[in-house]
Amino acid sequence: MNKQKVTLANFVKILNKKYPEIQVKTNYTFKDLTTFKIGGKIKALIEITQIDILLKVLNLIKDYDIEYFILGKGSNLLVSDKPCNFLVLKIMLNSITVRGNKIICGAGVGLFKLNQIAIKNNLTGLEWSFGIPGSLGGAVKMNAGSFGGEMSFVTECVYYTDGNKIYKKTNKGLKFSYRKSFFSNNNFVILKVIISLKKGDGEQVKKLCLQNFKKRQETQPYNLPSAGSVFKRPKNEFAPVLIERCSLKGFKCGGAQISTKHCGFIVNINNQATFNQVFKIITKIKKTVSKKFDIILEEEIIILR
Ligand SMILES: Cc1cc2nc3c(=O)[nH]c(=O)nc-3n(C[C@H](O)[C@H](O)[C@H](O)COP(=O)(O)OP(=O)(O)OC[C@H]3O[C@@H](n4cnc5c(N)ncnc54)[C@H](O)[C@@H]3O)c2cc1C
Repeated sequence: MNKQKVTLANFVKILNKKYPEIQVKTNYTFKDLTTFKIGGKIKALIEITQIDILLKVLNLIKDYDIEYFILGKGSNLLVSDKPCNFLVLKIMLNSITVRGNKIICGAGVGLFKLNQIAIKNNLTGLEWSFGIPGSLGGAVKMNAGSFGGEMSFVTECVYYTDGNKIYKKTNKGLKFSYRKSFFSNNNFVILKVIISLKKGDGEQVKKLCLQNFKKRQETQPYNLPSAGSVFKRPKNEFAPVLIERCSLKGFKCGGAQISTKHCGFIVNINNQATFNQVFKIITKIKKTVSKKFDIILEEEIIILR
């Protein structure tokens, strides 16, 4: 079926008429909603607090030529400063149920919260993720990992939708690999995740979480806006080491700077950095590393322009 061409503003009018109960917000910017604190006006954002709201919106989108973006906690994103012409669906599905050693969570639950639940219920296996400022949905999609752990080790199954139906995939079908999953190349929305942990001692779990958090604070520019590690790990190498060996530590472009604490991070100094400044630094790093080491760095962060 041919989709009807409409502007975003007209789509919002159609949505308002058909589903007056769904509120479309127009007062956000990506600067407000990303950890990088960069990004332009969001012309239309819907807070997805219930699955049926999402299904209604996705169903309507099917008839119209409208682009949409699924936003978690915005901690892996670099977004253009220009106003965006796509609909933003912010996933805020925050239900949590604990059954034995399993935590069943809405995709909008943050990893901090998830760890608190694990501690309270004497469950171990997630401590590596303490301090990652993402949502569970974003973490599954990116197969987030650190300190030897990753989402693939603890994800038992995922419920997701394309707007037509709700599907379920268990761990094997999720095709996890380094910072990749079944969701890497599609626009499905993760709704709910079952996390499977092991019985442990809450005090020990908490201690390990805090140790990992301390390590992060000591080694990463945790107090400055960023989107985490900019590049994926190239084979047998570490991106921050390559960048440092190119003498780029501290390299600045306007308000954007290669962190002096961890060369894998680009930080936003005094909230002055723009999309273009960060993008120029990314381009400079890739060119310099390629020239010096013949290695092509691949971005881990998602760039929206
Ligand atoms: C200080 C700092 C430290 C970090 N440390 C780490 C680390 O140690 N390890 C690591 O792996 N990452 C790290 N990150 C990066 C980031 O936090 C993770 O990738 C996180 O899992 C992203 O989740 P999010 O909710 O913020 O996703 P977003 O940034 O909002 O989105 C990321 C991608 O996921 C998609 N997405 C989000 N929610 C859903 C959903 N429900 N359904 C379908 N798609 C969805 C988005 O469309 C986008 O493609 C760090 C970031 C920062 C700022």
